Amino acid sequence: MKISKYIPAFLKPDSEGPWDVIGRLIREGWRKYWPGYAVAIFFMIIVAATAGLTVLIIRDVVDEIFIDKNLSELTFLVMAVVVISVVRGVSLYVVAVALERTGNRVIADMQTRLYEHVLKLGITYFDKTHSSLLITGISNRSGAAKSVISTVLTNYVKNLLTVIVLLGVMIATHPWLTFIVVVIGPAALIGVRILVKRIRSFARAEFAGMAQIIARMQETALGIRVVKAFNLEPAMTSKMGEAIEGVRRRRNKIATIKAQTSPLMETLGGFAIAGVILWAGYAAIYHGEKPGDFMAFITAIMLAYEPAKKLANTRVALERNVIGVRFVYEIIDTPVKINPNLDGPELEITEGHIRFENVDFGYRSKKPVLKQFDFEAEPGKLTALVGPSGSGKSTIMNLIERFYDVSGGQVIIDGQDISKVRIASLRDQIAMVGQHTSIFQDTIRENIRYGRPSATDEEVEEAARNAMAYDFITDTSDGFDTMLEEGSSSLSGGQLQRIAIARAMIRDAPIVLLDEATSSLDSESEYQVRVAFERLMSGRTTIVIAHRLSTVLGADTICVLVEGEVVENGTHDELLAADKTYARLYHLQFEQPASQAVEDEEPAVASVG
Ligand code: ADP
Repeated sequence: MKISKYIPAFLKPDSEGPWDVIGRLIREGWRKYWPGYAVAIFFMIIVAATAGLTVLIIRDVVDEIFIDKNLSELTFLVMAVVVISVVRGVSLYVVAVALERTGNRVIADMQTRLYEHVLKLGITYFDKTHSSLLITGISNRSGAAKSVISTVLTNYVKNLLTVIVLLGVMIATHPWLTFIVVVIGPAALIGVRILVKRIRSFARAEFAGMAQIIARMQETALGIRVVKAFNLEPAMTSKMGEAIEGVRRRRNKIATIKAQTSPLMETLGGFAIAGVILWAGYAAIYHGEKPGDFMAFITAIMLAYEPAKKLANTRVALERNVIGVRFVYEIIDTPVKINPNLDGPELEITEGHIRFENVDFGYRSKKPVLKQFDFEAEPGKLTALVGPSGSGKSTIMNLIERFYDVSGGQVIIDGQDISKVRIASLRDQIAMVGQHTSIFQDTIRENIRYGRPSATDEEVEEAARNAMAYDFITDTSDGFDTMLEEGSSSLSGGQLQRIAIARAMIRDAPIVLLDEATSSLDSESEYQVRVAFERLMSGRTTIVIAHRLSTVLGADTICVLVEGEVVENGTHDELLAADKTYARLYHLQFEQPASQAVEDEEPAVASVG
């Protein structure tokens, strides 16, 4: 699988700077988060002020104590130092806690927003988006918003203010000396800017690499049986190794470039200090200037150095996280293509009559799957769809569920165009059992209850009984409370299917859509699943993608599809007598090696889809 085609557009070269993202974070968040950030900012101001006070105290310490030997000043200054450090310490604590707590709320909100939006997106989005991107989105990328805000506030408030306060003190003491510092500062900024550009491309590549690692891990977990059966371990290890190695190399690059800002700043900082010592020493030696001011100035430079360095580094620190936030925004901004008609009328089911009228439909590729397609499922009857793989059977199901919208014509249920009714009211009337049973990480009881969350425990058990699932469920270690997980291997294929049928039964919907599994079951399971299916279908409008002989034999109508067209319609006997497509598909299955027919007891029919 090639991951690169899933990489969002913004990761391709030349995206904008961080300001659009920061601006949006502020616009969307300030109303909600301002109290927390206001507290942080207030205490950041105090932190900056304490830096200025420290410098002034140093001046007084040197002048009053070491030069003038003033004892009362000593006591006062010592007290002042103690108070300032306590205030500074407490303020730093409050800043850190306020930033973290508010930031964690930002993350939680971002994750909720992302998840809610992902749930709204149509199936088309999931068709083209690798799930590893969604996983990175909700796991580490959501955290990027917190880091961006913290970085911006810490640097542009705390560090900037500290630098400004210290510069103020410097100007107050030695305006001319300050000049040296001010000249060197911008030189450093230019250097850092060049480094930022280089980091950006590596940060993008690193992100793509991480998504790839997650995708590979996912594939491995989901396909572990194939991996082992085909002895793919070495091949998978080497593919994973490439991805891991790629990310490692990029991270090293980023680290190297990031670290380059340090020597740059150190060297320039050293130049500044050397210049100041030269100048101030000269002034002290030849003009008898008091050392207090000089010491204060040096202290101010020393204190300003760290925040100034961080300030210059802001862009570097932001780079990676801005990409993360932009990625989350890209998902959140993906338009919802299927209109849920939240204020639309409810679908009213009178008898459960489904009709396709002149339906045109194609998936993303230009090739249409259905053209001027007409189809009908009669109320309360069983309609079986058969036809070769790719003929459009699942597409019909997808359109009834409105997983996709038709591009022409209408899908009509009891006289109502399904694209006009509230989508939830449509889906409420449908119970679907797909080929692959979706198991959620929950107990068996809850897995059944997903069919109708308001169902009582008794109703769940009743559904399990009707779906022939009760006995095996009560035989499991914790009965209905047994935990299931994705890829749950503690249950057999037939058992999982019966759980899916129970889930559909509890929904008690007038329309049932079934895709019979192709995997063959042992005859006991086969029998139980068949009974369960029959109970589920009875009295309901049912459309089934048929794989079992019993299903086609029992169907009121069999629709034979070939390349998106209904080529034949009728009962099993009629179609067999007509001796056309259906008869051919049917014989193809039955004239297979006799051994298989004996083994399966109920050989699968026609639709090998
Ligand atoms: P069947 O269920 O009869 O096997 P489908 O309805 O799944 O057939 O598929 C009909 C056609 O639509 C096929 O050509 C298939 O490749 C295409 N198709 C099905 N699902 C998708 C999808 N999610 N994206 C793009 N093309 C699809």
